[in-house]
Amino acid sequence: MKYSFQFYPYQRRFKQPLKTSHGSWEIRKGVILQLTDELGYVGLGEIAPLSWFGSESIKQVLNFCRQLPSEITDADIFAIPSDLPASQFGFESAWESVYLARFEDKNNQNKSHKRINFSALLPTGKAALNEWKILWDQGYRTFKWKIGVASIQEEIDIFYHLTQQLPLEANLRLDANAGLSLAQAEEWLWVCEHTKIEFFEQPLPITQFKQMLNLTQRYSTLLALDESVASFEHLQACYQQGWRGIFIIKPAIIGSPRLLRQFCQKYEIDAVFSSVFETSIGKKAGLRLASELSNNHRAIGFGLDNWFIKDDFSSELEHFL
Ligand code: MG
Repeated sequence: MKYSFQFYPYQRRFKQPLKTSHGSWEIRKGVILQLTDELGYVGLGEIAPLSWFGSESIKQVLNFCRQLPSEITDADIFAIPSDLPASQFGFESAWESVYLARFEDKNNQNKSHKRINFSALLPTGKAALNEWKILWDQGYRTFKWKIGVASIQEEIDIFYHLTQQLPLEANLRLDANAGLSLAQAEEWLWVCEHTKIEFFEQPLPITQFKQMLNLTQRYSTLLALDESVASFEHLQACYQQGWRGIFIIKPAIIGSPRLLRQFCQKYEIDAVFSSVFETSIGKKAGLRLASELSNNHRAIGFGLDNWFIKDDFSSELEHFL
C-alpha cells in the first residue's frame, strides 16, 4: 500500500515552565503526520521527541521528515531505524490510524474498551498543596509529585503536609527523575516506609541500575523505572537483569508499538503508561496501547491537560486537534 505523506511541525507553550531535575522546559515542539491511503482514508500520527530523555531531537525528526518523498509505503514505515524511536512511534501510529479508519465500521461496534483512570501531575514545591484540591474536584484520584528540585529537607516537609491533606483514597506517586544520590534516595525511602505511597519513580541515574535493584530488596515501597527504560532496548535489558518492579512506558518515545505489544504480552510486566506532553493525536495512539497493555489497577500518566495554554496551537493544525 502507498500513502501520500504530509507533516506539520507544531509548538505548544507550557502555562508555566515544567521544572524537573533535568532543568526547565518551556515549549513542547513536535510534528503531526498525515498519511492518506490510495482509497482516501486518512490517519494522523504524532512525533513528540524528548531528547533529554534519550529520544532523537526535534531537529533530527524534521531532517528525517524532510528527506522523505511525498509518497511512502508500508515498507518505508516499518524500516525506520531504532535510533529514531519517537519517529517510529509517530509513523506506525499514523499507519495504524489509517488502518482503523478503513475498518472502523466493522471493528468499533464490537470492541469494548477497558476503563482507564488518569494520574494528574502536581506542580513542584509548595504549589502542590493547593493544586491537588483543584485536580481532585476534577475527578483525579492519583497524583504525581516531582522531587529532587528543591532541597531534600524542604521537599520532605512539603511531602508530610501533602500526605496529611490527601484523602485516604488518593494515590500518590513520587518522581525523582533520576536526580537523587543514593543517600538521598534512602532518606526518602525511609520516610516512605511510614507513609503509604503508590510507588517511587526513578530515584537514581540510569548508570546506577544495580543500586536501584538493591533498594527494591531493602524497602517495601514499590520502585518504578522511567529514565532507565526510555528506549525499547533498555526496557528489554532491565527486564533481563531482573527488574520486576514497575516499568513506566512512554509510548511516544519508546519506538515501535508493534514490538512493544509483543514484549508486554510475552512477559506480562507491571507497566504504567505515561505521556510526554503530546497533543491529543499522540495521546490517542498512546491510550490505545495503554488500554491494551497496562496493568488494570494503575492510573496512567496522561492527565496533563492542566499544563498547556489551550489555544496555543498553530492555527493550521486546529482542525485536527
Ligand atoms: Mg518519570
